[in-house]
Amino acid sequence: VARNAGEIEFHQAVKEVLESLGPVVTKHPEYADAEIIRRLCEPERQIIFRVPWTDDAGRVQLNRGFRVEFNSALGPYKGGLRFHPSVYLGIVKFLGFEQIFKNALTGMPIGGGKGGSDFDPKGRSEAEVMRFCQSFMTELYRHLGEHTDVPAGDIGVGSREIGYLFGQYKRITNRYESGVLTGKGITWGGSQVRTEATGYGTVFFVREMLAATGDSFEGKRVVVSGSGNVAIYAIEKVQELGGLVVACSDSSGYVVDEAGIDLDLLKEIKNGRRGRVSDYAAVRGSARFLSSGSIWDVPCDIALPCATQNELMGTGAEALVRSGCTIVAEGANMPTTPDAVRILREAGVRFAPGKAVNAGGVSTSALEMQQNASRDSWTFEHTEARLSDIMTSIHDRCLATADEYDVPGDYVAGANIAGFTQVADAMLALGVI
Ligand code: NDP
Repeated sequence: VARNAGEIEFHQAVKEVLESLGPVVTKHPEYADAEIIRRLCEPERQIIFRVPWTDDAGRVQLNRGFRVEFNSALGPYKGGLRFHPSVYLGIVKFLGFEQIFKNALTGMPIGGGKGGSDFDPKGRSEAEVMRFCQSFMTELYRHLGEHTDVPAGDIGVGSREIGYLFGQYKRITNRYESGVLTGKGITWGGSQVRTEATGYGTVFFVREMLAATGDSFEGKRVVVSGSGNVAIYAIEKVQELGGLVVACSDSSGYVVDEAGIDLDLLKEIKNGRRGRVSDYAAVRGSARFLSSGSIWDVPCDIALPCATQNELMGTGAEALVRSGCTIVAEGANMPTTPDAVRILREAGVRFAPGKAVNAGGVSTSALEMQQNASRDSWTFEHTEARLSDIMTSIHDRCLATADEYDVPGDYVAGANIAGFTQVADAMLALGVI
């Protein structure tokens, strides 16, 4: 803790993983001998840089950029960039740490990293966003490469930002190196299904949780927090599989729509006009917008937190338990506080952690890298089928590992142990580096 003072989200993420690892270290003393855990908690490289840019009024603005290259035992660093005013080293390190295990769970050859900036794209013009992205990449490019470090999007970074970042990378290096960034547009090296992948993957994972007890999404009431990239495509896939999504949110409040969220309308408002969920309620008769209270007060069978870290707290967990919710699966990264996780698990709610549930995004990024490397492009159906298989395999691996360590049905232990052992074995094989 003293070594990483003030990085509270990073401490939280590390503690959550370490709590699962006692039996692993007992079974494998070689991990302790090689100081694997201490080495894993120390990023291989941390880059912090100045990002100066000029706003539309001609004033000079200044932000801070980050890239934490956490672990490359399994492959090049891979993980998204987040542009949000809350970004600081502790957030980037928590996300990068999680990413190591998530990427291992996918079974693809990718290491873990994460980056971003405290830049707030909200209210900025297209030209300002472009100038910021160009300045950000003017420093970051020297650390990237398809065999070195391959960023993608995250909160505040979608295909628009990836486009400006890739354009500047190409311009500076004079290389059309498609594999250096993922989340690209379909017409210039991107993969089908990447946009949908995290949301769809989340729902595929829950489909497997339901199937494990002979159940399905048919007729289930589902609450999805957020209304960004992950939330929108989670809603889409739940609806396709026969569930009813009755609520979603943004940082200003949440909407309840007992008729089921009208996804075309939500997409038009969020993606088309960059609007708010309150705009949705304003034009949809069956919906109401609430700016106070909590989305977790809305009764549901399945809750999918898909917005941001620590958004589902103890009181939210208690409300979910009261309403009879049986599954909570994290579409976002670490959205459930430790207190809330404890309450849910003690009440018998089946809880699955983000590093397994939301791994569909990075899996499809790895599929994008494969297509770039072979100069190929796959159909939507083929790519979605690959994603579905990967999510089934991650789910099964979590359960098999939980069985192996005598904690059947414990998705948290299963995900942490399966991800950890894969990285630890690679680190052992590569020596003390
Ligand atoms: P977006 O920026 O597209 O969307 C984030 C959404 O969450 C927005 O609707 C935002 O609302 C909302 N939000 C933010 N803070 C709060 C809050 N305190 N309460 C309620 N809603 C809030 O991001 P993504 O959808 O890409 O990412 C969401 C989560 O999923 C993050 O944790 C991210 O790390 C994780 N993730 C994303 C992946 C991806 O492929 N995109 C991959 C794996 C994980 P507002 O507009 O008001 O800010």
